[in-house]
Amino acid sequence: MKSILLINPWIYDFAAYDFWIKPIGLLYIASILRNNGYDVQLLDCLNSAHPDLISDTHISIPRKRYAGHGKFPKETVPRPYPLKDILRNYSRYGISPRIFMNELEYRRKPDLIFITSMMTYWYPGVHEAIRLVKKVMPDVPVVLGGNYVTLCRDHASSLGADVTVSGEGERQLLPLLKALLGDNLSDLPDSDHLDSYPYPAFDLLSLKDQVPILTSRGCPYRCSYCASHLIFDSFRRRDPIRVAEEIFFWITSFGTKHFSFYDDALLVNPEELAIPMLMEIIKRQLPCQFHCPNGLHLNEITAHMSRLMFQAGFKTIRFGFETSNEILQLKTGSKVTNEQLREAVTHLTHAGYQPRDIGVYVLCGLPGQTAEDVRESIEYVKFCGARPIIAEYSPIPGTSLWDTSVKASPYDLVREPLFHNNSLLPCQSEKLTFSMYQELKLMTRSV
Ligand code: SF4
Repeated sequence: MKSILLINPWIYDFAAYDFWIKPIGLLYIASILRNNGYDVQLLDCLNSAHPDLISDTHISIPRKRYAGHGKFPKETVPRPYPLKDILRNYSRYGISPRIFMNELEYRRKPDLIFITSMMTYWYPGVHEAIRLVKKVMPDVPVVLGGNYVTLCRDHASSLGADVTVSGEGERQLLPLLKALLGDNLSDLPDSDHLDSYPYPAFDLLSLKDQVPILTSRGCPYRCSYCASHLIFDSFRRRDPIRVAEEIFFWITSFGTKHFSFYDDALLVNPEELAIPMLMEIIKRQLPCQFHCPNGLHLNEITAHMSRLMFQAGFKTIRFGFETSNEILQLKTGSKVTNEQLREAVTHLTHAGYQPRDIGVYVLCGLPGQTAEDVRESIEYVKFCGARPIIAEYSPIPGTSLWDTSVKASPYDLVREPLFHNNSLLPCQSEKLTFSMYQELKLMTRSV
């Protein structure tokens, strides 16, 4: 039986927090590969529960919070050269390279290695994983995929992987396995029908008290700052009852109590998916809670929807509002209006949510944006009775706001993905400086 090793690489950043991050794309691929007769292993660099972490005394190991979210283990590391002037601690989040190397040496040598990637500016973690793998197993082909590759293909091609794959990985498996191992896959899902996919291989994770659920891929909107349409070919959804069945399956298989929705558009056209799914969850009285770290659509929040979410156990609810500036709303995609935020908060509070439960994202650092604009947006969210949460803008190649961002930024965004990092406030200007941003952050703390 041929063996394939899947690697979820480290995060390298100034700050990182585990909002239910799991390598779900890689775990879907794991299940498909298993169905085709491969032995599949996972090396998860972000595994906070790795038993050997305890012996790495230089790594701080925080406790996870009740719902499976929390800080990652981390170790401060030197900043990469392009960030040398940013006088802040920079860290590697996850297990140590020592544990990584031990894992590689202890495991059966694979026939092929897949490495995934997430944010473009986290590529140092990908680079390090490829470097170490090539040191131990120089003759095993390495395939690199994921969001960073999709968004920065040329840059990703320079990191040492044998093959880079952009877009949805499942669609590429057939030609990849043929070219690299001479194999023919016979059991492949129909990527246009998400319910034909096997469940992700969550059994490969150390911690299963919390798992993510995907009910869809993509988003029908085209917000100017968002990469959803670049990462997913089209907007596709699952059958809502099949989603409830999957949740039930994880509860009974692993005793999972917390589920995070990774969707970009969970609530869009709610009669198609969200409403029947929530009603099924309520009917089955599933003993669990749900968390939505990706911004939900405020314009879909009605009194009925709010009651269903509350009854079904939606605990962490976050919404994409971005700005109260109506001109900016129109320019960036018109996904929500000020009035819709106000009405949504009223419905949610009537359903039982407290103001502090209703987290509303406010974008900060769009090209040309002023501190005053962000301040007004924060004030408006508070006025509506919700909790503003600043989301720092990260420029993404290929989005319609990219060219404007490149012109507005003091950093070389085109040549260096490290400068896409939202912690830098990459499109800051004299109208919105870093110190103004820190004052705006303080405004959100007082809620
Ligand atoms: S609605 Fe959300 S997911 Fe969809 S394009 Fe806009 S920001 Fe992206």
